[in-house]
Order: sequence, then C-alpha cells, then structure tokens
Amino acid sequence: MLHYNDRVAVGVSGGKDSLALLYIIKTILDEHHRSNLIAITIDEGIKGYRNESLQIVQDFCAKLKVENKILTYKDLFGTDMDEAMILRPSEKKMSSCSICGTFRRRALDIAAESVGANVVATAHNLDDQLQTFMINFLAGDVERIGWSFPEPVQYGNNNLKKIKPLAEIYEQEIVFYALQREIPFQSEECPYMNESIRTELRQFLNKLEKNSPGIKYNAYNSMIKISKGIKSSQKIGKANKCSNCGRDSTGNICSVCKIIDVLKFNGNK
Ligand code: SF4
Repeated sequence: MLHYNDRVAVGVSGGKDSLALLYIIKTILDEHHRSNLIAITIDEGIKGYRNESLQIVQDFCAKLKVENKILTYKDLFGTDMDEAMILRPSEKKMSSCSICGTFRRRALDIAAESVGANVVATAHNLDDQLQTFMINFLAGDVERIGWSFPEPVQYGNNNLKKIKPLAEIYEQEIVFYALQREIPFQSEECPYMNESIRTELRQFLNKLEKNSPGIKYNAYNSMIKISKGIKSSQKIGKANKCSNCGRDSTGNICSVCKIIDVLKFNGNK
C-alpha cells in the first residue's frame, strides 16, 4: 500500500482505530527512516463531542512527533453538523451520518491536497466495512456497494491514492491493540450516531459472531467478491466535473454541493 517516497495523510478522529493506524504507520516509516507523515483531523462542529478527541489527537501527535492539521466543516462548507441538523429538511431522507460522511470524504481530500500528500489512509475496520455494505444492501443502493471494494484506488483532482490498511481487522482486535500499546482514545460517543441503522447492524453482527466465530470474516469475503463484481461493471475513471465546485463527480453536481444547496435552500425558507 505504501511506497518509498509517499507522503501519507492519515485521517485521525481521536477514536481507537485512527490513533492505532497513525501509530502503526509511524512505526513502519520510522523503521525505514522516513517521516513523510501528517495527521489530518476534521472538526465536524458537534458540540460536546469533538473537544475531547481534538485534545487526545493533539497530545498523541505531539508524543509521536507527527504534525497535526485540523480542518473544520464550518470553514470548508459554511456550515457545521449541529447547524446542518437544524437546516436539513424533514421531508428529505438526509441522515446525520450520510451528510457527515460526504463532508468528511471531501474534507480529507482537501486537507491531503493542501499538505502535498499523495496517499490518504483511513482507519475503516472490518466491522465498519461490513456494516456499510449491509446499510447499502438494505437501502437497495447497489452502486455504493461497488465503492466499498477496499483496494487502494487512485482518484480525484490530485490523483490521491486512498488506502484502508485495517479493512480486514476486527474492531475488537483493534481495541485490544490500542489497550496493549497504551494508546489513549476517545470515550465520548457522537450524539447523532444512533440515527442510522449502523448501531443495530453492529449489535446483530456481533451477536452472530459470538455464536458462530468467524462469520463476520466470511461475510466480509463475500462482500469483497460482490463489490468487486459490481465495481468492475461500473465506469470508474470516467468521472465528470461538478459544474459548481469543479471537483470530480458522477453527475453534473457533486454530492457535497447538492447537500449544501439543500441546506441553504431550507435555511432560507
Ligand atoms: Fe458524523 Fe455520524 Fe460519525 Fe457522528 S456518528 S461523527 S454524525 S459520521
């Protein structure tokens, strides 16, 4: 996933997965006497949730001697998550995490480009991947299932390579790793997290795993085959440019601009 002269931007939220990933990549680069690493933290603007993690990330980065760059939704998109939750129209299906996830992907791209990184590493684990697959499956969103194939992909305005080094690791194993390495991590939960069915799917899959050990890994392998098949049938690489912001988009207007337009329109009503 990584090559000799890569400059790696790691998305670091303050949770166990992203701090463990930062620690692992830092260790690998140190072994090879490389220091082309930067931690990117995105502040979504969620009152009472982000402050704890920002401090944890800053302290951990200082300990590892890794630069930490913080970007906010407010600066990038003119709104933050708390505002977006008030501005979103009730008649449209706009869940907190779908708004937040769309903004975060864009924010990470912008941050990585701004620091000259050519690789963006995110800490999605096997459980995250499987839950996302199930959410898209249950929503009938087949196109998105194709996007979940976790091979390193190069995309976007600056040809950034996107990698998910923890994609095959159980969430529980990462918790053990973080505890064993004494990596501090955020305990506060996002107040919007229970809006989506992710939490229910998480509990359901963990219950299955408890009774049938290995079942999540089997399901993950099925997910990979299905998403690979769908991805190969999609016209990847022929992205349009968003007529509003000029960034890559599958349609005329990218998903970030669409969300901002809906929020603005609803806010001006
Ligand atoms: Fe954003 Fe959802 Fe995560 Fe909260 S739980 S930070 S709303 S993606």
